[in-house]
Amino acid sequence: MRSLVMKFTLLTGALIFATTLMLMTLENVSAQRETRNLLVDRSLASLQATATRLAGAVSVNNSNYIDLYVDELISSVGANEMYVLNNRREVLGEAYSDGRSEGQLRAADLAVMALGAGDLRYSLTDGVLEMAAPVYTEERRLVGIVYAKRELVELVASRNAALRRQTLIALFALGIFLPLAALIVGRALKPVQTLTDAARLASSKTLDMRIDVKTGDELEVLANAFNRMFARLDGNLKRIHRLAYVDMVTELPNRERFRKETERVARKALEDGSSGAVLFLDLDRFKRVNDSLGIGEGDRLLEMVGRRLSEVTRGCDMAMGLEEPSMVARLGGDEFTVLLPSIQDSADAARVANKLVDAIRLPFEISGHQVFLGVSVGVAVFPQDGADPETLMRHADLAMAHAKRAGGSAAQFFEPTMNQSAFERLVLENELRDAVNQDQLVVFYQPKVLMKDGTCAGAEALVRWQHPTAGLLSPGAFIEAAEECGLIGEIGDWVLRRACLQAAEWRKQGLEIPVAVNVSAMQFERDGFADSVLEALEAAHLPPHLLELELTESIAMENPERVIEQVQPLRDRGVNFAIDDFGTGHSSLSYLTRMPFDVFKIDQSFVRDMTTDPHARIVVETILAMAKSLKLETVAEGVETTEQMQMLRLQGATLAQGFLFGRPMPSADFVEFATDSREAPGKDRAVNE
Ligand code: C2E
Ligand code: MG
Ligand code: MG
Repeated sequence: MRSLVMKFTLLTGALIFATTLMLMTLENVSAQRETRNLLVDRSLASLQATATRLAGAVSVNNSNYIDLYVDELISSVGANEMYVLNNRREVLGEAYSDGRSEGQLRAADLAVMALGAGDLRYSLTDGVLEMAAPVYTEERRLVGIVYAKRELVELVASRNAALRRQTLIALFALGIFLPLAALIVGRALKPVQTLTDAARLASSKTLDMRIDVKTGDELEVLANAFNRMFARLDGNLKRIHRLAYVDMVTELPNRERFRKETERVARKALEDGSSGAVLFLDLDRFKRVNDSLGIGEGDRLLEMVGRRLSEVTRGCDMAMGLEEPSMVARLGGDEFTVLLPSIQDSADAARVANKLVDAIRLPFEISGHQVFLGVSVGVAVFPQDGADPETLMRHADLAMAHAKRAGGSAAQFFEPTMNQSAFERLVLENELRDAVNQDQLVVFYQPKVLMKDGTCAGAEALVRWQHPTAGLLSPGAFIEAAEECGLIGEIGDWVLRRACLQAAEWRKQGLEIPVAVNVSAMQFERDGFADSVLEALEAAHLPPHLLELELTESIAMENPERVIEQVQPLRDRGVNFAIDDFGTGHSSLSYLTRMPFDVFKIDQSFVRDMTTDPHARIVVETILAMAKSLKLETVAEGVETTEQMQMLRLQGATLAQGFLFGRPMPSADFVEFATDSREAPGKDRAVNE
């Protein structure tokens, strides 16, 4: 900008200088002309006077007289050289102002003189005036001429003086007008300066500004255009920032923002020796709520969760007098994170985590319904559990998964052993994927027998994994992993199809025995679950009444609406439904009895304890009595001793399943077992004891 002002000032200065000079020159030229005319007139007049004075002497060619006076005459004319000639062009006298005695009168000069002979003549070149005056007698007879050459030194001197004056005045004008010009140019360019400053500021930092230029000209138009451009750019930048760093559903910081903030705080903690914590939160049961509420309401619920988490952390910040406020962020789905930038010790983090768990446990009011959620929280403390955001979040996530596996609605601190078990879990998951693809899974069948005579009345299909190195693995070793990595759907479908095919084959062999298949929560919650069951039945040509599906009590209670929706159409076709592990879910009995089930499978823990624990016996008795009045069938699971069997039989149990009768076995063994029991009912050792 300064250079622009300087350029304009210099240009103006040059213009001032040139204009002054030009004006002065014009004035000088006329002054010079006047001076010159005056000098010429005077010189001519005195030459003419000299000629008149010499008329007599010239007419008689009196060179003596002329010589006598010529020196005097030359000074009166002020000439440098002077010659007096008669009309025959003979020099009658000559004089030189510098004292020379010899003249240099040239032929050319004489010719000039000849031309001017009749009249007064002169020529002026380069400040040298040459003039010739005719010498007339009183009778007007031309008798000669006087010629003089005069250097007009006055003219040169006055020209030089004028030039000096002129330059001085121009410089003086420059001295006065240049600062003035700088001032005016500076003023005039002020809006441009404002615009330039604004543009520079905009390119480096802030766009949140207005340029105030009220010049009423193009600059104001430009400034207004700049203002509009800044406003639009500012809006766009803010939008981009929002998209990059804000979660649109909850308006909370998003994953990237959280990551950056964690990075900053963790680095600071390393430098100044302070500590902080990263909390990883995953909502329990959110999927179920989301499915039943629909996406829009689900988003509203997430927003409410976000708000509640923020309120709790704000409260904790104030209560604990934390230096820096905590940050709540949403990673996506039902996952949130909380950053506690400065804590005294891990007890602070535990307090916040527990408060968060308690707060989420309180009901949410949505569309007039009360919705109950829970949250599993994993806590990683820095610097000891990690010094970078990735490690901290991974560790907090691992701890969260532990909390979730332990039943949810709780907080869990990260422990280094979790890394090892996570690694083992990863290996297991990869192997399980291979197992599914490489047909390493097999289905075993455990008989269900009639209490009254020990006849085999059904089979429960139980999956096994024929592991290439570890041997035959029970579901306890891999079902949880399969659920977590999402393979359970595939495994469950495979077991279902396999069991249906197997039951159809038994039927062909004349053994019409229903097969029970376990359904995992994930499998059940998938869209198209009912269709997949019907497809399996159709593919195997198995009549639906020969299939029983076992749902655990917790699945049934988790989503009662879905149970009714999914179960009823299949039941209408003839498929039976059993509640597995009945009695463990602590659910409201009145509620359960209204669910569309055909069988209660009494959990093996009650059967195991009933001979020693009166409470267990009462539970079994109650379930049996309830089943009887509801006209439902019961299967007592895990019967291992004859004592248990007899007690169950006394209490009116209809069916039993347990090692006492038969362990889960390959299909061929099962066929043998079932055939034997049917051919000789009551012959069974266990039943008869
Ligand atoms: P569950 O459905 O309650 O199956 C009964 C479990 O009790 C079986 O264990 C069985 O071997 C065991 N059991 C039977 N009688 C006795 C007994 O007298 N004493 C004792 N101590 N245990 C007995 P398993 O085969 O290890 O299966 C465990 C659980 O894994 C099953 O419990 C079921 O929830 C699940 N599971 C098995 N196969 C599948 C499957 O194909 N899909 C799904 N989703 N889950 C399955
Ligand atoms: Mg079962
Ligand atoms: Mg069971």
